[in-house]
Amino acid sequence: MRVRLAPSPTGTLHIGTARTALFNWLYAQHECGKFLLRIEDTDKERSKPEFTSNILEGLEWLGLKWDEEPIVQSKHIETHRASIRKLIDSGLAYRCYATEAELEEMRNAQKAAGQASRYDNRHRDLNPKQESLFIEEGRSSVIRFRIEDEELINWNDLIRGHMSWKASDLGGDMVISRRAPADQIGDPLYNLVVVVDDASMGITHVIRGEDHIANTAKQILLYKALGLKAPLFAHTPLILNQEGKKLSKRDGVTSISDFREMGYTPEALANYMTLLGWSVPEGMDEKFTLKEAAKVFSLERVNKAGAKFDWDKLNWLNSQVIHNWSSEVLLSALEPLWEKEGWKYENKDWGLTLASLIGPSLTLLKDGISESRPFFENPSLQSDGLQQLDSENAKIALRCLLNNLQKTPWDGIDLNEGKNLISQSAEDASVKKGLLMKTLRAALLGRMQGPDLMTSWSLLARIRQDINRLSRCI
Ligand code: GLU
Repeated sequence: MRVRLAPSPTGTLHIGTARTALFNWLYAQHECGKFLLRIEDTDKERSKPEFTSNILEGLEWLGLKWDEEPIVQSKHIETHRASIRKLIDSGLAYRCYATEAELEEMRNAQKAAGQASRYDNRHRDLNPKQESLFIEEGRSSVIRFRIEDEELINWNDLIRGHMSWKASDLGGDMVISRRAPADQIGDPLYNLVVVVDDASMGITHVIRGEDHIANTAKQILLYKALGLKAPLFAHTPLILNQEGKKLSKRDGVTSISDFREMGYTPEALANYMTLLGWSVPEGMDEKFTLKEAAKVFSLERVNKAGAKFDWDKLNWLNSQVIHNWSSEVLLSALEPLWEKEGWKYENKDWGLTLASLIGPSLTLLKDGISESRPFFENPSLQSDGLQQLDSENAKIALRCLLNNLQKTPWDGIDLNEGKNLISQSAEDASVKKGLLMKTLRAALLGRMQGPDLMTSWSLLARIRQDINRLSRCI
């Protein structure tokens, strides 16, 4: 059992392609088959090496490692041409000399008559004399594959069940190579190339988006014409936006590298993408690892209907993943973000404590920047913090605490010490402990919301930041 992902390196790894990769990978894992990669770089103008790198990096980051060396499609162009020659020799393909202007005229006439646009097969049976006239005129030609209108193309789709497609709906004889001088074969085109490559790679199952259904019908005809065994097909549902339309660049983030940049974890994103179109078997949690999903993955549980992208669910899964990390793992994920901000810390234990302090409030990794900021930079006083500092007796209480703190410098190692300091100072100032604690939060962190006060204080005390922050508020 061999499946493949065949991305075109004409853009970054799109979530739709990544989800196709994921279903292929899960299926291969489940069936102990191979997951292969083919870079479809035949569009020379739009294909870029940086997009290939982006795609490979994205797949690796998601944990979708491929088997065998990736196939680079453009290296096999002569094999593709050989198949085209074979089709010409067997009378199943022919040269079409129609000019762009003639084709345009044909389409306009069809439009005016209210007909669907299709090639009218005008050069299907040129006699040698007509053909030499065109060549003498210096016309170039494309090569077209004969599609017999009366044929019905059937296949048993592994997701959608019985599929049937009328050949007459395929738009007439299909172009399989680009325009070129009449004595040459131009660049072979997608449907032909995919068939030749899938066959030579021994692909047994083609799992791809439902936007390829019409291509599948065309490809089945090509397999037959070339005497090749067609693989089994499975067409996955599209990923839709909130309006129920195909998710596109206009919906904002769609590249895997963008999700990565935004602070999504590969675990959560892969988990979420699996749920985009696949329903978990009964009794299985919606939060799972790829390994767990691979154990039970089947194409029967892939839905036919499009899958709406749900940011809340993705965010929830992401927070679950982060909250389950050990402080060591979290710290190593936060470190590059801190580094980018120019934030350094000296003591590993301090870093670990900060990571576990802010961990529970993170949805995205990048939230780790705003949550950590008050521990690396003096926070500005927010309006709720200012209000607290201005409340009755707040400053007196803070002053008492500062006095006591200066007498018994607290290095923040012993939380009890800190608690004693608060009790003592509240008593000295004749205020409630609660008032002092709230005021201390305002002074240390600048706002009233935030992580555990005592741990925050102890971290700031250890880098000698507490006294400064208290002093500036008095
Ligand atoms: N290069 C095609 C794409 O990216 C591949 C489609 C296929 O899987 O055959 O859409």
